[in-house]
Amino acid sequence: MMRQYELVERVARYKPDVDEALLNRAYVYAMQKHGLQKRASGDPYFSHPLEVAAILTDLKLDEATIAVALLHDTIEDTDATRAEIDALFGEEIGKLVDGLTKIAKLDLVTKKAKQAENFRKLLLAIADDVRVLLVKLADRLHNMRTLHYVPPEKRARIAEETMEIYAPLAGRMGIQDIRDELENLSFRVLNPDAFATITERLESQREKNAALIQTIETELRDKLSERGIQAIVKGREKQPYSIFRKMQRKNIAFEQLSDIIGFRAVVADVDDCYRVLGVVHTTWPTVPGRFKDYISTPKQNDYRSLHTTVVGPGHQRVELQIRTEEMDRIAEYGIAAHALYKDGRTGGRSITRATSESRAYEWLRRTIDLLNENETPEEFLEHTKLELFVDQVFCFTPKGRLIALPRGAKAIDFAYAVHTDVGNTCVGAKINGQIQPVVTELSNGDEVEIIRSKAQTPPSAWEDVVVTGKARAAIRRATREAVRKQYGGLGRHILDRAFHLAGHTFSPEKLEGSPLQRLAQSNAADVLAAVGRGEIRAEDVLKAVFPDYQGERASPAPDAARPGARRRTKTGATEATSSAIPIRGVQGDLPIRFAPNGGAVPGDRIVGILTPGEGVTIYPITSHALKDFDDEPERWVDVRWDIDETNTARFPAQIIVTSLNEPGSLAQITKVTGDNDGNIDNIKMIRKGHDFHDMIIDLEVWDLKHLNRIISQIRQVPIISKVSRVNG
Ligand code: MN
Repeated sequence: MMRQYELVERVARYKPDVDEALLNRAYVYAMQKHGLQKRASGDPYFSHPLEVAAILTDLKLDEATIAVALLHDTIEDTDATRAEIDALFGEEIGKLVDGLTKIAKLDLVTKKAKQAENFRKLLLAIADDVRVLLVKLADRLHNMRTLHYVPPEKRARIAEETMEIYAPLAGRMGIQDIRDELENLSFRVLNPDAFATITERLESQREKNAALIQTIETELRDKLSERGIQAIVKGREKQPYSIFRKMQRKNIAFEQLSDIIGFRAVVADVDDCYRVLGVVHTTWPTVPGRFKDYISTPKQNDYRSLHTTVVGPGHQRVELQIRTEEMDRIAEYGIAAHALYKDGRTGGRSITRATSESRAYEWLRRTIDLLNENETPEEFLEHTKLELFVDQVFCFTPKGRLIALPRGAKAIDFAYAVHTDVGNTCVGAKINGQIQPVVTELSNGDEVEIIRSKAQTPPSAWEDVVVTGKARAAIRRATREAVRKQYGGLGRHILDRAFHLAGHTFSPEKLEGSPLQRLAQSNAADVLAAVGRGEIRAEDVLKAVFPDYQGERASPAPDAARPGARRRTKTGATEATSSAIPIRGVQGDLPIRFAPNGGAVPGDRIVGILTPGEGVTIYPITSHALKDFDDEPERWVDVRWDIDETNTARFPAQIIVTSLNEPGSLAQITKVTGDNDGNIDNIKMIRKGHDFHDMIIDLEVWDLKHLNRIISQIRQVPIISKVSRVNG
């Protein structure tokens, strides 16, 4: 166990004016309070806060933080009180210890609602003073290092929480070393097999790698000093978890990984960074797409560095990070590094001021602000987790505006990040000058130009594609609005039809005034939507507009259903997508579907039936089901197919087959259908007699000709006695 004077010396090494008395008092107090308590390992409990303090001296934190580390479990686990700590160590330290006590037992991998609430509490506690987080991370790190003493059933849960919350938080705050170690310790528990495999392979290559590191280090250093650049060059093996993640991301085996060693060149100033880059790029071939300039565009956790990969000495891929000493320190210590540059005085204020200048801290503040904006804790958690767990990509508008997005973000996310209107009208994207699908995942440095159309409504399916909370919420809103409009359009159709049949012409203006009052609606749009949803009958609207309307019906069924109705030939190209049914005659964006039993295929004469609240259902005009709508001519819509030779969609049809009860009869039917390029969707046995049985078969075919060919081929199978189309 570390002695009292050793701890003081460690702090004094980076902070000569250390408040020794404070550290001594905290050391003695915590040791006495924990007394004879033991840890799971059998060690005295006090060894734990002491180790936590030691971890924080590695981050070169001030003595107040070190004292808090020593005291962090006293209120939670001993008879110490906040008042006592306030009295002995001052309110500032008391408050920090109190903050740690509050989050000590927060369960962050529990049920969603509870988890969100707990996560909120954690963020609020650390946003108050970031030193709470630093001590908490060190606390978790020591607990992870000693996790093997904890009963196995508890380990996975702690490791999961570490992997899900604490490691990403450390990364977010830029404390790279702690993040790496937390990840590796969790990885080992959560995925022991993968951990063992990767560790073994690394082990077996260690000697070879060590020699390689030496060679490359020397050669890099030589090349740089030839050009008069002083640089500290260091290579090191990557961590098992980072290797694992790479294997997962690229879906490759360990042997295929070309870069399990990373190199770093640390130089005096920013100019030298770019000079090193110049030397490296003129000496060895570069690997395309791997250069990243985090100096001109720092990561959100303040990380700055140049990244590049070259095919270096011995045809070995060399991944190189180039940065100054200051950048190196921030890369390692993150938010903790900011404390070092300030006036060194003890006290939260100077550190709070220092950290508040860091971008990482800014992120924390922004996240806290979101607490108030989001509707539910679950939404907040979803949003924050996205921000927390994935790295960022930086993209640009054509005018050079920087848009930071979480990794995995699509062009649609970009559009919504620029402006909600841009997202809502986005139909395409030019990424680096090339037209790309809007679902394209963006990479760092992409220049994205959004192609817009006023006619566009974001498809609701985008909701599952986007990764930013903002885009998801906006799509949800726009979809709701579009559905409302659809009902309005459907209502308009129904009313147009009903008014026409009654010998009138409908227009929304006719509803103004008393009709609206009679219908108890506040405006015409609401009436249209209510009719569309089936809440108000068209007849009631007619009566509201024409109080003496009797409801008599004069008109026959519409054109399309009349024998001999014109079947217009299709003209022009269509842009029917696979999900849309290519039908003309329906205005707007009403949902269209086929009648549930029987379907319809191109070549059939068809009619549409309006169903309030649903849309238009397409029937072949020979369908018996149409009888049911004889009394409601206002629901009939004249529609026709809108396809041409380039059409690749199949359409549903239903046939009924009567065959001899013979083994293998089904196999013969499916074979004939398949040989004729028909798709069987479903087969239902509907009646089984002694000699014969009936089957209803759902087919997908190109058109009527195709369907008829299949039917006639099936008829020729000897065991088949009858084939006919349902609805035919
Ligand atoms: Mn602890």
